[in-house]
Amino acid sequence: MNLCDLAVESIAGLQPYVPGKPIEELQRQYGVRDVIKLASNESPIGPSQAAQAAIALATRDLTRYPDGNGYSLKLALSEKFQVDAKQITLGNGSNDVLELIARCFASPADEVMFAQHAFAVYSLVAQAIGAKLVEVPAKNYGHDLPAMQQAINANTKLIFIANPNNPTGTYIPAQEVHAFLQAVPDNVIVVLDEAYVEYGDQNINSVDWLAEFPNLIICRTFSKAYGLAGLRVGFALSSPEIADLLNRLRQPFNVNHLAMCAAIAALGDEDYLQRAKQVNNEGMQQYIDGFNAMGLNYIPSKANFICVDVKTNAAEIYEKLLQQGVIVRPVAGYGLPNHLRISIGLAKENQRCLEALANSLSES
Ligand SMILES: *Cc1c(COP(=O)(O)O)cnc(C)c1O
Repeated sequence: MNLCDLAVESIAGLQPYVPGKPIEELQRQYGVRDVIKLASNESPIGPSQAAQAAIALATRDLTRYPDGNGYSLKLALSEKFQVDAKQITLGNGSNDVLELIARCFASPADEVMFAQHAFAVYSLVAQAIGAKLVEVPAKNYGHDLPAMQQAINANTKLIFIANPNNPTGTYIPAQEVHAFLQAVPDNVIVVLDEAYVEYGDQNINSVDWLAEFPNLIICRTFSKAYGLAGLRVGFALSSPEIADLLNRLRQPFNVNHLAMCAAIAALGDEDYLQRAKQVNNEGMQQYIDGFNAMGLNYIPSKANFICVDVKTNAAEIYEKLLQQGVIVRPVAGYGLPNHLRISIGLAKENQRCLEALANSLSES
C-alpha cells in the first residue's frame, strides 16, 4: 500500500515550500565558516533591545498558557493602527493568517487568484484546500491589476496581492490598489499582504481603506522590518466580521507568549524601525551601484531584498556563492531561472556578497 494514496488528493500533490538555507546547514554540508545569510529577508541588525528585554522578563511566565485572546498585543496594535481590537487576528507568523484565510473562504468549488511570480504561500494554501488556482501573468515582474480584474468571474472567491511582492520587490502605487478594490465585487475577499510595507514611504495608509471595503484583509508581520522572524508573529486587520471568522478557526494558542511580549516591545521601538529602514536604504543603493558596475539588470525593489538577473542559469551562481559562504535565494521556482534574490544585509555583508557574485560570474 502506498500511504500517499491515503492522503487527501490536494495534499498529496503539494510541493513543500523551500526556505532559505540555514547557516548551520551550509557549515555542515560545505565545511565553510563565516557564513552570511542573505536569503530570507530577515533583519540584518539583530532584534530590538527592547524586544530582547521583554522576552527575558516574559520567560518567567512560561509555565502558563499564553493569553489566547492576545489582549495586550491587540491593544498595542489597535492603538498603533487606530483600529478596533475586534478587527485584529493574530497569527503564528502572517503565514498562519494566510492559511486561515484560505481555509475560511476557499472551497474546492472556488477560484483563488494571485499574480505570476507572487509569494509561493498563496498557491500552497489554496492548493491544500483543492481550490482552483488562477495565476494571472505578471507585467514587468509585478502585479497586472487590470488583468487580474479582467480574470474575476462568478467563481472567484479570494485574491492575494503582495505589495511589495516577494520575491520580485515590485510595488503597486496605493491609488492603483485602491482603484482595484473599488472594482472588485464585494463578495470577493481581497488579501493585501504587506509584509514589507514598513520599508516604503507610507504616505498612504492602506489601513484607512478597511472602513470602505469590508471584504479587505491586510496582513502584516513582525518578521521583516521588526526583526522577529524567529519568534513567528504576524497579524491581519479586517472588518470585525472577518476577524471573528478567522478567530473561530485559529488554534486557541496560536501565538506564543514570548512572541506576543516581544512584538509589543518591538512595536514601541521606533528607533529600531528607523535604523532598520536606513540600513536597508543604504544597502539597497550599495547593490544597485554594484549591479550597475557589473552590468547586471535588477528588478527595482521597494522591499528589503533585490532580484538580480545573472544572465545565466542562476542555480550555478547560487552554488558558487554557497562555496564562498554566501547564502542567497534561487527563484527558479517562481519562474525566474536567471535571477537570484538577495536580502539586504549590513554594508560589509553586501560588500562580500557583491564580491562573491563578481567572482562567480567571472568563473562561469
Ligand atoms: C516574509 C513574508 C511574509 C511573512 O511571513 P511570516 O510568516 O510573518 O514570517 C508574508 N508574506 C510575504 C510576501 C513575505 O515575503
